[in-house]
Amino acid sequence: MATRFTTPSSSTEGFFQAAPYIQSQFDDDHALQRALKLFLPDRVREELIPELSSFSKLVLTPKVTTWINDAERNPPYLKSWDSWGRRRDVLVTSEGWRNLQALGIESGIVAIPYHCERGLYSRVHQFALYHLWAGSAAWVNCPSLMVNGVAALFRKHLSDPAVKGSEREVLRSAYEKLTSRDPDSAWTTGQWMTERAGGSDVSQTETLATYAPSPPDAEVTAADNHPLGPWKLDGFKWFSSATDADMVVMLARTQKGISTFFAPMRKTVSAAARDALGYETELNGISIQRLKNKLGTRALPTAELVLNGTRSYLIGEDGKGTKEIATVLNIARIHNGFTAIGLWGRGLSVVRAFGRARSVGQKPLLDKTAYVTTVAKMHIQYRADVLFNYFVAALLGAVEQEQIKAFRSVVGGASVAVGGVGRAPGLRDTQMAEHLLRLLTPALKGVTAKTAIAGLAECMECLGGVGYLENDDQVYNVARLFRDANVLSIWEGTTDMMAHDVLRVVYGKTSVAALTAMRDWVKATCTTPGLSKQKDTMSAWWDEWESWLQNVEREEAEMKARVVMEQLADVVQGVLLIADAESDGDEIAIEVLNAWLSTRRAGVGLIDDEGSGGFWRDESARNLRAVYGVDTPVGRQAKL
Ligand SMILES: Cc1cc2nc3c(=O)[nH]c(=O)nc-3n(C[C@H](O)[C@H](O)[C@H](O)COP(=O)(O)OP(=O)(O)OC[C@H]3O[C@@H](n4cnc5c(N)ncnc54)[C@H](O)[C@@H]3O)c2cc1C
Repeated sequence: MATRFTTPSSSTEGFFQAAPYIQSQFDDDHALQRALKLFLPDRVREELIPELSSFSKLVLTPKVTTWINDAERNPPYLKSWDSWGRRRDVLVTSEGWRNLQALGIESGIVAIPYHCERGLYSRVHQFALYHLWAGSAAWVNCPSLMVNGVAALFRKHLSDPAVKGSEREVLRSAYEKLTSRDPDSAWTTGQWMTERAGGSDVSQTETLATYAPSPPDAEVTAADNHPLGPWKLDGFKWFSSATDADMVVMLARTQKGISTFFAPMRKTVSAAARDALGYETELNGISIQRLKNKLGTRALPTAELVLNGTRSYLIGEDGKGTKEIATVLNIARIHNGFTAIGLWGRGLSVVRAFGRARSVGQKPLLDKTAYVTTVAKMHIQYRADVLFNYFVAALLGAVEQEQIKAFRSVVGGASVAVGGVGRAPGLRDTQMAEHLLRLLTPALKGVTAKTAIAGLAECMECLGGVGYLENDDQVYNVARLFRDANVLSIWEGTTDMMAHDVLRVVYGKTSVAALTAMRDWVKATCTTPGLSKQKDTMSAWWDEWESWLQNVEREEAEMKARVVMEQLADVVQGVLLIADAESDGDEIAIEVLNAWLSTRRAGVGLIDDEGSGGFWRDESARNLRAVYGVDTPVGRQAKL
């Protein structure tokens, strides 16, 4: 012992931590492995394993981590003026960013479900790749998720034979580029909803759309030579990620209300102006006011944009824009859930590797039971989050089958065998899948964003000081994952907005059908023999949740919306953990289920700790007093 300390340490002598060996995220992630086992037939899973395993190794290779570094070190910048003083707004992105974008596209991160490569299981396939991709993508996955949503929107409209002529041509061409696996011709898209008045409430949209079918210069076309659309948009967009995209889908106000529009990002310059300007295309009536300076997502070009005569096409019915954009948003929210488990899953893989390599006080770290308790707690919740994500992906895959069939019957392409809803436990038919998908998508987004952020903070701590460092070695840089994850609870709708969206279903037109679907799903999984104690608990949680909502005023439910959403997610996660454990009687899965149950409610019914009968109104006032010291803050306008 004494001899060990006879030589002082120096920069080259003394103790050095052996580099933790990170196994591929796929091979080392039991939660992911089990989710695939639960949601895929053996044949499909076995076919996918080599692809997923090699992709998860690829995204940790020095080639890819160097691209991440490049994208992080060289964030996008704006060249607003050309050498002669003309406004130009050239957005410069790094080579690393562009290479990552190309890798995502050619790997099929978007294309897989649109080419229906695994039939009913294409969504699970796509999201499994995405799960492994998120930790290395440096946010090129943000444009991809927008592409994914917009492709679904365009597919829906192309399936409508009433969409004809040049509009069909333009949509069809864009759809093919959005769903291409060829990085040289593939397109990305932006989605612009948020304005200064609020991203949560797009009814305040101030961008105005004017129908003006005769453009000022008929010779000017979109950069891909398609005609420019008959609408002209003017306004201001406060947040635009994917500013380097080829096209955009956005909201604007017409005489009839909020509507959805599609615009190419660039258009040709007229022949007369071309020589003087020295370039052939320019932005389509868009100027980039500035790029945002952000906590994370640094490689992602998020900008403020001025729209001045942006030529565009109306998508869907005039005045029904929020309904149209919901297709895009719902898919984006599922991606958000997968990004959460992708980033957190990556952090956990680093923690597992560190745990294997590190000793403290001359003992392996894994001998420290408190440490292992902390790490295990995270893994247990991660398992629940992973199952929730794959369940929603399976629901989406089931629901989309009819849409793909309709699309192919109008547009062409190989017909798809439609039938069944796949292997998702307890799922009876497509109708049930539709209702569950609508109810659970916001809950997935709301809940998994929060657990991933908290989980990544814990992962940093599990690595000690090194966890907090922004080292260039991206394989170990959990701090980057943490700062990036913080956006997950804000964009695509904040957590409280997700909770409100759950309530919108509970109190909406499809309320009875949605709650029946959920009840049937819980009961179908919880009334079979085996694991009866756990099943009774889940059944009781559901009954309590449902009856509580039936007995309160809507205002009270809104005040407690977040708990309502969290407890709905608890029911889903508990049922899925039961289904997982039951699928093969795996002992660890049963232990995980029991441990997870012990971390949740020690019973049911904590939503309303005081009972109804008006108490919640007092609680509402108490909340304001806790924040401002008074019941009614003056004018409700805080002076910052
Ligand atoms: C990095 C980044 C990139 C982004 N990229 C894009 C993009 O590409 N396209 C795009 O359209 N947007 C984008 N956004 C914007 C994002 O979607 C919005 O910031 C988000 O929806 C919140 O809107 P807001 O900022 O206007 O906040 P607000 O809507 O003003 O919300 C402020 C707070 O009020 C709460 N709140 C609002 N309404 C209610 C309500 N009815 N009940 C209870 N609480 C409520 C919210 O939960 C939040 O806590 C991006 C944001 C970030 C941070």
